Amino acid sequence: MNVYDSTRMEDVMKQDGYVSTSNISDADLVVLNPCHIREKAAEKLYSELGRLQRDKTPKPMIAVAGCVAQAEQEEIARRAPYVDIIVGPQSYHRLPKLVADIEASKVKGDRKRSIDIDFPLESKFDLLPPVQARSVSAFLTIQEGCDKFCSFCVVPYTRGAEFSRPVDSVLQEAKKLMGDGASEVTLLGQNVNAYSGDTKGLAGLIRKLSQIRGLERIRYTTSHPRDMDKELIAAHGEITQLMPYLHLPIQSGSDDLLKKMNRQHTAEDYLKVIEAVRDVRPDIALSSDFIIGHPGESERDFEQTLQLIETVGFAQAYSFKYSPRPGTPASTISEQVPEDIKSVRLEILQNLLNKQQREFNTRFLGQSVPVLFDRKGKLPGQIAGRSPHMQAVHVNCKESEEVDKYFGRTVNVRITGAFRKSLTGTIEHTAL
Ligand code: SAH
Ligand code: SF4
Repeated sequence: MNVYDSTRMEDVMKQDGYVSTSNISDADLVVLNPCHIREKAAEKLYSELGRLQRDKTPKPMIAVAGCVAQAEQEEIARRAPYVDIIVGPQSYHRLPKLVADIEASKVKGDRKRSIDIDFPLESKFDLLPPVQARSVSAFLTIQEGCDKFCSFCVVPYTRGAEFSRPVDSVLQEAKKLMGDGASEVTLLGQNVNAYSGDTKGLAGLIRKLSQIRGLERIRYTTSHPRDMDKELIAAHGEITQLMPYLHLPIQSGSDDLLKKMNRQHTAEDYLKVIEAVRDVRPDIALSSDFIIGHPGESERDFEQTLQLIETVGFAQAYSFKYSPRPGTPASTISEQVPEDIKSVRLEILQNLLNKQQREFNTRFLGQSVPVLFDRKGKLPGQIAGRSPHMQAVHVNCKESEEVDKYFGRTVNVRITGAFRKSLTGTIEHTAL
């Protein structure tokens, strides 16, 4: 979502004549838009700010956006007093005004900080300029925020309460993206399947999106097990554009720990959802998130997480050491798990997940897979894209002109190599 938000900030600044640059030394305004979910992500902000301050002359205007801005306004002012703008995730449509305020204060000779971390009543989506597709594969935020308050998580505090964009606004944005040449859309939300902008929920929206001409592939992320309703599960078996990939975080396989996490579901609830999805879409690629070392995690809890992974068999997954976040209930629990135990458990868990990922990819050897090519490689002739199951697929074309021919299109690829994080193959010319 930070990537989506950054592109929207770019769109809004373009209206004021700003253009983006890939060379930081050309920038008059630098916007950093980091994630606050774990401490490591948030800390990157300060090292990046330090580098900017050290290396860059003349000094550009610096804005910090996103959830870190929302949560750490005072910390930013203390650790990086030269930051000009602090703007939260729900108010970045006002960035041009904040920039103008800084310009005006500079003219007056008293450069001061502009801050906007409101949760305004107006929706930024109604006020942002029309979106522009940057790739054949586009992100589209449909839902934000969270009302679930898991013990460890900052999202409800930084992104605010659950909010869904009205269905018409989403459809309009999707049509614009397709008109610009995109053919895949990934619907975004911190709880994307809690979407309530359509009377039939996320499934209703996906059905409407599937009617849009040119929209070949639909994905969504991130979903919560409790919000996987029957309609959404059925959609996986019925809508051909809905790709066979589901990212469904569970965090832990232990009911005791899930309770401590305030997840409001059990391991069995999760397994039932997986079973129902596999009933309608047996080949679905499953992904998840795991937190290792949440306060109170015992050896037995951890074993149960490994057991759940064995039972499900994931195509890929994200796993993180628990990171105490300011203001969350879990950060004040006394039974914190020592760092060295977290590290050992994380390694064991990742070894198992990596093995499953390799096995999943190996199954595709020799198969023909439709790949949507959205990236050109560094060397001539190299092109890459994604399979329906979300695997990265790399192809070396015989002629470098072929890259332009296939770029932006879905082309069948015969898989000849399977690795943990990617597949390789050759173009099947017959499919063109
Ligand atoms: N709404 C989704 C998750 C969104 S947050 C869900 O409930 O499943 C994305 C992921 O970040 C989470 O799934 C979790 O695994 C991770 N995460 C959140 N807070 C964390 C923390 N304090 N420490 C480590 N990982 C965390
Ligand atoms: Fe965070 Fe997801 Fe829990 Fe909401 S449901 S608090 S976003 S982990």
